[in-house]
Amino acid sequence: MKFCSNCGSGALEQKIPAGDNRLRKVCGNCGVIHYENPKVVAGCLPVWEDKVLLCRRAIEPGYGLWNVPSGYLENGESVSEGARREVWEEAAAKVELHYLISLYNIERINQVYLQFVGELLDGAFGVGEESLECALFTEAEIPWDDIAFTSSVFTLRRFFANRRSGEQKLHLASYPAVD
Ligand SMILES: [Zn+2]
Repeated sequence: MKFCSNCGSGALEQKIPAGDNRLRKVCGNCGVIHYENPKVVAGCLPVWEDKVLLCRRAIEPGYGLWNVPSGYLENGESVSEGARREVWEEAAAKVELHYLISLYNIERINQVYLQFVGELLDGAFGVGEESLECALFTEAEIPWDDIAFTSSVFTLRRFFANRRSGEQKLHLASYPAVD
């Protein structure tokens, strides 16, 4: 962004606004401060009986790798709505959200992942537009070497740990914590 989206004409300059302590993009014309903040990625691990649903990505980054359905939250949408929408877009499936399992920070690229565990309604799913295929996996069948993102590895590992201990625990971490 080079020009101000507020007044449409002002050039943006980097400066520290009064009362602030960080460099911001400030419009030289109307004075509006254009804050830049991290993005929220909402997702859900759909569960059916003793299996979890993963989607193989048809888009970059991570083309061809398996992932927990997730994507950027849209304006005007709650995190829960975003998580359900992503499951629909990637797996053509509906879920009932059960609990929030992970809050995963990737400070380096300014992203915060919030992922739920949800029950697949009637065990039904298809293949969404952003996926090459979708499939159910038991814990032993998870293709650990072909998982797209560390956030997904984190959520999967914590899900199976939660299930073993009979808990619905929320887990917090920062990249790359995938143990
Ligand atoms: Zn302006």
